[in-house]
Amino acid sequence: MTSDNLDSLHFDNRFTRDLPADPVTTNHTRQVHRACFSRVQPTQVAAPQLVAFSREMAERIGLSEQAARSPEFAQVFAGNRLLPGMDPFAMCYGGHQFGNWAGQLGDGRAINLGDVLTSGGEHWTLQLKGAGKTPYSRHADGLAVLRSSVREFLCSEAMHHLGVPTTRALSLVLTGEKVMRDMFYDGNPQWEPGAIVCRMSPSFTRFGNFQIFAARKDVETLRQLVDFTIRTDFPHLGDPSSPAVLAAWFEEICRTTVDMILHWMRVGFVHGVMNTDNMSILGLTIDYGPYGWLEDFDPGWTPNTTDAQGRRYCFGNQPQIALWNLSQLGNALVPIFGDPEPLNRGLELYSRRFNEGWRTLSAQKLGLREYVPETDLDLTNDLHELLPLVETDMTIFYRRLADLPMLSDASQTEDTLFAGLADAYYVPDQLTPEYRQRMTAWLGQYRARLQQQGELDAARRERMNRVNPKYVLRNYLAQLAIDKAEQGDFSLVEELLEVLRRPYDEQPEKERFAEKRPDWARSRAGCSMLSCSS
Ligand code: AMP
Ligand code: MG
Repeated sequence: MTSDNLDSLHFDNRFTRDLPADPVTTNHTRQVHRACFSRVQPTQVAAPQLVAFSREMAERIGLSEQAARSPEFAQVFAGNRLLPGMDPFAMCYGGHQFGNWAGQLGDGRAINLGDVLTSGGEHWTLQLKGAGKTPYSRHADGLAVLRSSVREFLCSEAMHHLGVPTTRALSLVLTGEKVMRDMFYDGNPQWEPGAIVCRMSPSFTRFGNFQIFAARKDVETLRQLVDFTIRTDFPHLGDPSSPAVLAAWFEEICRTTVDMILHWMRVGFVHGVMNTDNMSILGLTIDYGPYGWLEDFDPGWTPNTTDAQGRRYCFGNQPQIALWNLSQLGNALVPIFGDPEPLNRGLELYSRRFNEGWRTLSAQKLGLREYVPETDLDLTNDLHELLPLVETDMTIFYRRLADLPMLSDASQTEDTLFAGLADAYYVPDQLTPEYRQRMTAWLGQYRARLQQQGELDAARRERMNRVNPKYVLRNYLAQLAIDKAEQGDFSLVEELLEVLRRPYDEQPEKERFAEKRPDWARSRAGCSMLSCSS
């Protein structure tokens, strides 16, 4: 049952009820000590206008479509009006940015409205991103622009439907105000439309929330946050004062984090800013900024212009960066654990689970029912070596591979099979005789492996198409939706949201969204490179 009435939302604000608050309540930039959050009101905006909303997430908290389309909804989720029971606050956290300790960061433009308790007993924190300054805004304005908000809104929902753990998005509203941004930090600031996304998550706690107290040697507040987190976000683990429960907790963080990373690698997602303040304690993908989707399979690709030099956060580095981030979290937790042994065990578990998971994943992407080291180590490694040699669209490659009549048609040679992959290649000139020869040899190897598996092509295809998506939020598609939205036309945001609800289905009428990146998008800003300016 959903309600048309926003006032029907029931709030149970655990974070602000159970954790120490900043005693200062005026809204100015400051260092906040011995507190997990600061109370702060969203800034009033001129003219809230709904751009899009997620009907699943509205329903999840008991709101009808009618409620989401009401003028009051836009007012509330632009921060202009509070509902009874809301208790807005910004969190205090720190973090390692690009490998260096950055001190206090905090919610500089995110304001949590409160925790909805649903009739089914779920807690969902509602958080506005871009709702104005907070004590953590440092030198920035606390705002967000439409382009980055469209990207966050669409991608959080798309990731969920891909089966990737993620925070969610309830709504996207325009504020009716303009925001100044210098998109490429090159001295060309422009006025852009301001927008606010309402994000939803069972918890927005990050690794950096723990790190800030450890860095300040505030063990008491650190312990309170650990106790709280285990009690509220990991209630199945039991009493947080037990060393065994602490150990199981860190293990679970390592496990959920590695599982998230494996999903990213499976679908070709590059986060772009894997700082420790952007790592969720629940292993959810969080903070969609200069993220990107792999088009041509290049492990060294990063969408983030700020990262172009070091490529710390490129596609292929993500697994080891997540481990590095976990070890920073582990360091922060030493004062609570005392004995570092369980923390080390968690990190070892990460590595083991990643290696196993990566093998399984590589095999699943090829439609293999199980990973047989004798044959599959070479088969998968050889492919991962071949893919980056020429510009190969990762998403299209795996879908085309699934379609190939590997066994059903004996008249097919490796050459004719290879022709079936043509769509996946960006630059036909790169397909030299030598490359063709290596790829057809690989297809021969693959075919032999499939013969050993002995299964109809159709069954293999079906399994492959469940792990290899057809529709992802290609960088240029998001940009097209943004271009239209900036003209006041939200239809492409709506259409992409709909297509991306079923990313593994064929959806023949939506084929154009599965095509490879057009040439004009190769080097256009927003399509191939993004800055942190958002
Ligand atoms: P990010 O790299 O987006 O995760 O941001 C790092 C830190 O900068 C976080 O503490 C953000 O809250 C803060 N931040 C980013 N953009 C803004 C902004 N426009 N206004 C205030 N704080 C911001
Ligand atoms: Mg962040």
